[in-house]
Amino acid sequence: MADQDLYKEVLRVNGAESQIDMCIEECSELIQALCKYKRGKPNNVCEEIADCEIMLEQMKLLFNKGERVEGWRAFKLDRLAELVGYEEEE
Ligand SMILES: [Mg+2]
Repeated sequence: MADQDLYKEVLRVNGAESQIDMCIEECSELIQALCKYKRGKPNNVCEEIADCEIMLEQMKLLFNKGERVEGWRAFKLDRLAELVGYEEEE
């Protein structure tokens, strides 16, 4: 089963509201893991990044109508590159 098919099935089985709550929870766990990292404590940053990526893919299925996320990403990456003076090699 492809990842996208799995995410659709999870959304169908659990419902959008539940998965939105789960996304909030996973984002909170990543914040907590990053705080532990900054304090030099054992942490699970990588696990929480993976959890967030999985949840963000589901949020894109719910909210990303007309590829708006891709548009925002391109805009923000351009702005970020400008901010640090980054030029892509040709
Ligand atoms: Mg987690």
